[in-house]
Amino acid sequence: MKIAILPGDGIGPEIVAEAVKVLRALALPLEMETAPVGGAAYEAAGHPLPDATLALAQQADAVLFGAVGDWKYDTLPRPLRPEQAILGLRKQLGLFANFRPALCYEQLTHASSLKPELVAGLDILIIRELTGDIYFGQPRGRRAAPDGPFAGAEEAFDTMRYSRPEIERIARVAFEAARQRNRKVTSVDKANVLETFQLWKDVVTEVHRDYPDVELDHMYVDNAAMQLVKAPKKFDVIVTGNMFGDILSDEAAMLTGSIGMLPSASLNERGQGLYEPSHGSAPDIAGKGVANPLATILSAAMMLRYSLKQPEAADRIEAAVQRVLAQGLRTADIASPGCTVVGTAQMGDAVVRALG
Ligand code: NAD
Repeated sequence: MKIAILPGDGIGPEIVAEAVKVLRALALPLEMETAPVGGAAYEAAGHPLPDATLALAQQADAVLFGAVGDWKYDTLPRPLRPEQAILGLRKQLGLFANFRPALCYEQLTHASSLKPELVAGLDILIIRELTGDIYFGQPRGRRAAPDGPFAGAEEAFDTMRYSRPEIERIARVAFEAARQRNRKVTSVDKANVLETFQLWKDVVTEVHRDYPDVELDHMYVDNAAMQLVKAPKKFDVIVTGNMFGDILSDEAAMLTGSIGMLPSASLNERGQGLYEPSHGSAPDIAGKGVANPLATILSAAMMLRYSLKQPEAADRIEAAVQRVLAQGLRTADIASPGCTVVGTAQMGDAVVRALG
């Protein structure tokens, strides 16, 4: 099992080092190779995604990614900015399925803006289609409006598109993921208004025939946004398109209250995936040894579950994180009165000890 380790910028190298420490402690036959990405790669090789880094990612079974970006690169031409590395990797590896779990640990319910009883024990998974929809649909652009009440005025337009195979493959990913969880999928659409999402709903319903052991319901996106704050625990897996998923996954992330705790994954058709924390490179705290490494450690657990097919090892890491929180250890971002505040490396060491 080969893993490409791409630490990136800011706190990336600090938090990835802790995840690597935890992976090594599992004593599995894992081959890990590190390469620069983002601003670090621009400094070293003049490009945020050098050919050698891309080749390593393509050969690996999975990529463990830290974060990229720093304000100092904001004046570079767009193709050379660190963030282009993520877009390049998504495109080159064909990563079309984005997994964003929202998990609220009992000990951290105080960090949520919702009442503790609504979020305690929350465990939902949002699966967002990542390569289609209005973000990429052609044609798009600006022009003089050809018709309508404002004909001749400047207008901008984008095109929302989804094809049957695109919907089928993301629906299958969602049903398969639900089989590893509580066997319930909510497909989120806007079929009452949009043709694109009428096709979405029809195709998801058809694919569901192959998964009779999984429960399926459909929900309009406006209602889904409401239900996520009203009764989030009634969801298990949510599957939706690129734009709705972009918005709902950030909403769900905030239910848990702490960005430093949230892993994510993006997978392609071969099950190869890129695993990264949901947060950015946090240049404001880089190099201080205070960043929370748990989102990256939990991303490594997702990698073991979804790309490397080692669910028991994934369970071990997740249980170790639970144990560390139960022991009262916290990094500064999730600290609360009565807890012991530790740094990045101490948190990584504590997770290793808690693996048992
Ligand atoms: P950010 O997520 O990096 O930071 C937001 C806030 O959360 C900061 O106060 C930061 O200190 C804190 N924070 C983030 N992760 C933390 C952790 N693990 N432990 C403790 N505190 C943490 O978002 P930003 O400040 O808007 O962006 C900073 C840089 O990151 C920018 O260059 C941006 O482009 C980049 N970015 C990269 C990615 C990515 O690599 N996938 C994603 C988002 C932002």
